[in-house]
Amino acid sequence: MSKRYDLIVIGAGPAGMTAAIYGVRANLSVLLLDKLAPGGNIVNTNLIENYPGSGKINGADLAYKMYEDTQNLGVEFEYATVNKIEDGEFKKIYTDEFDEAFEAMTVIIATGTRPRMLNIPGEAELAGVNVSWCAICDGAKYRDKDVIVCGGGNSAIDEGIYLADICNKVTVVTDFDLTGDPTTAEYFRSLDNVEVNSYKAIQEFLVEDGHLKGIKFADKDTLENEQIVEADGAFEYIGTLPNTEFLEDTSIENDRGYIITDEKMRTSMPGVFAAGDCISKGLRQIVTATNDGAIAAQEARLYKKSKEMDENN
Ligand SMILES: Cc1cc2nc3c(=O)[nH]c(=O)nc-3n(C[C@H](O)[C@H](O)[C@H](O)COP(=O)(O)OP(=O)(O)OC[C@H]3O[C@@H](n4cnc5c(N)ncnc54)[C@H](O)[C@@H]3O)c2cc1C
Repeated sequence: MSKRYDLIVIGAGPAGMTAAIYGVRANLSVLLLDKLAPGGNIVNTNLIENYPGSGKINGADLAYKMYEDTQNLGVEFEYATVNKIEDGEFKKIYTDEFDEAFEAMTVIIATGTRPRMLNIPGEAELAGVNVSWCAICDGAKYRDKDVIVCGGGNSAIDEGIYLADICNKVTVVTDFDLTGDPTTAEYFRSLDNVEVNSYKAIQEFLVEDGHLKGIKFADKDTLENEQIVEADGAFEYIGTLPNTEFLEDTSIENDRGYIITDEKMRTSMPGVFAAGDCISKGLRQIVTATNDGAIAAQEARLYKKSKEMDENN
């Protein structure tokens, strides 16, 4: 029989690593799984300036510090890509890499999100260099410079307003019009340094010496009227995708793939909790991910305790 744990945490980003730390400190046996190196999305973030107590810190450095904390506390870690969860008194966690399922009384899902990509030339080369998915994180790099915002929904508008405060010029290129909240959209459009190009198809990020030179786009319907706008940075807001496909065959409720939890991070499957960017919520940042992770681990501890009390009665 495979080894049983009190808690298995799926995903070693900020949410999962925090959950593992709180779990092991609460005397739970904890297994932390990730398909990649620990750290999650922050590994690819150049500079983090909004995680209290860390000053200005490189994302990979912060990820390493978090991982070091898990190891100093004795959290067991395995590289594994989870492809299925099976419900039961002990949940079974199936992975691509191991023949046998891992088993645990409680599970915390902290598998985060990935950005929806434009999939156009230049994008892969410039990702993390001059193409970003987070203005709050990378906007300051473009102080008094020109940037492009790809997309016209609420995220594009909110982050575009943030960028307009910092940058010289914000050029929006979107395949519809601005589709976010109308009042905010009109405010955004009225800003002196914002130009909106609606109903356009983005075709290419132009690269020069490994850096962004500009963006090429044309009319969406006809692909005519090709235009090039020069810029120093580009921010993509065409949506994110939760890494939750492996839950498709379960009863865990979701909203467009984002796991629905209550304030205690409980999912609709008893004993299974979720934390971080993969849940349905408003603000996806490190500080909210660590917050969720701590609550989820505390609730996992209480779940185990209540099961033990039931057995003794
Ligand atoms: C470019 C960029 C810059 C950012 N900058 C900042 C910033 O400056 N400040 C800030 O507060 N926030 C920033 N953020 C947001 C921040 O990174 C996220 O809010 C945070 O990482 C969420 O943590 P998480 O643990 O929920 O998910 P993630 O960090 O996404 O971690 C999820 C983990 O789960 C793993 N995983 C996924 N699927 C599976 C599976 N099936 N099996 C096993 N493992 C799996 C992934 O490999 C990953 O390691 C930035 C985001 C991006 C994209």
